[in-house]
Amino acid sequence: MQIDILTLFPEMFTGVLGTSILNKAAEKSAVQYNVVNFRDFADNKHATVDDYPYGGGAGMVLKPQPIFDAVAFLKKKAESKKPRVILLCPQGERYDQRKAEQLAQEEHLIFICGHYEGYDERIRENIVTDEISIGDYVLTGGELGAMVVIDSVVRLLPEVLGNQESHMKDSFSTGLLEHPHYTRPADFRGLKVPEVLLSGNHKLIEEWRNKEALRRTFLRRPDLLDKIELTPDQQKWLSEIKKEYE
Ligand code: SAM
Repeated sequence: MQIDILTLFPEMFTGVLGTSILNKAAEKSAVQYNVVNFRDFADNKHATVDDYPYGGGAGMVLKPQPIFDAVAFLKKKAESKKPRVILLCPQGERYDQRKAEQLAQEEHLIFICGHYEGYDERIRENIVTDEISIGDYVLTGGELGAMVVIDSVVRLLPEVLGNQESHMKDSFSTGLLEHPHYTRPADFRGLKVPEVLLSGNHKLIEEWRNKEALRRTFLRRPDLLDKIELTPDQQKWLSEIKKEYE
């Protein structure tokens, strides 16, 4: 996967892309990152990328020219037919695991990180394929949003995580929150690990995990249960769980 990032603050990405799984993914050639300062594409003497809003008002607006030209350059360079051009924006669709799975199927992603008051509307109308918000709050710039999306997409690429299974049961991948985890010691200052996890009985352990994932989802995010079809076993466990809390 080719990932291009258009930003006015390239230095913000150094630590994130150069660390842990995101760095390993690049080392394994599962992904190639290219962080570009779109100020370099400004065609005016002072390399200005923003200007006052027509009609007046507070804040500066990102001009179309540097971003149009940077995106055209990156498309040509990658020779990719249909890159996804992603605009980070609080008004975009709310980001979730389904969207991460969808983006992980793509070969080329271009992220546009905004700043200041916003973008000239002609950018979103003409060169953007997706507008993504990472939540209902306003950030200073799109960089942190792009990092969130890139991290969640890259970890889904084949062979990026050591154990191929390790993202399959993550929260949201199954439609549920993940079950609780425990590690050694079995007795930590009197706080015990559930007996079943020490039993060595894989069938019972699996059943416990499935049930606890349901419990956790029921207690913390019951809205998720409306979005998935439960198996007959899950329906049975869920009604048992509900009875416990009546
Ligand atoms: N005036 C804009 C509005 O009300 O919609 C907010 C602009 S914000 C200060 C500057 C930039 O931060 C945005 O252009 C966008 O790139 C980024 N940003 C802010 N909040 C975001 C969010 N929730 N998700 C993704 N990007 C965000």
